Amino acid sequence: MALKEYKKKRDFKKTPEPGLGGALRQAQGKPLRFVVQKHHARALHFDFRLEHRGVLKSWAVPKGPPLKAKERRLAVMVEDHPFAYRIFEGRIPKGEYGAGTVKIWDQGVYAQVTPFDQGIKKGHLTFVMLGKKLKGEYALIRIAKDPKNWLLIKANKKI
Ligand code: MN
Repeated sequence: MALKEYKKKRDFKKTPEPGLGGALRQAQGKPLRFVVQKHHARALHFDFRLEHRGVLKSWAVPKGPPLKAKERRLAVMVEDHPFAYRIFEGRIPKGEYGAGTVKIWDQGVYAQVTPFDQGIKKGHLTFVMLGKKLKGEYALIRIAKDPKNWLLIKANKKI
């Protein structure tokens, strides 16, 4: 998917969001990062983003990520975001894509448990979050038939 769709949706003269300069992170040997941003757009949602191959794989989670074991929340896959988006906070102006305020809700590192390239194709990812709010093992599982709709599930395990 790369970042074509991200670019196509935005006018970088109008939005304060990061452009594509240096968008790909060279992550060799560095722990993988994640961010969750609270986004007061037309409808409040949380953007759940996991670094993978230099970009942020992204899902919009209307009710926010689960915090208790076995809870599950709908997570709608959206376009990849540039790695620089990890630190973005601000106000996207009216009339622009995603207009509203963006605030970081949690961030940190995470570890992939299952191979992600395969998992994205298959619709099944497991990983361990090491954030302030999000801790422990999670899974993202695609709901059959719809390529965009996944469930974000907190596993019943402690680390
Ligand atoms: Mn959003």
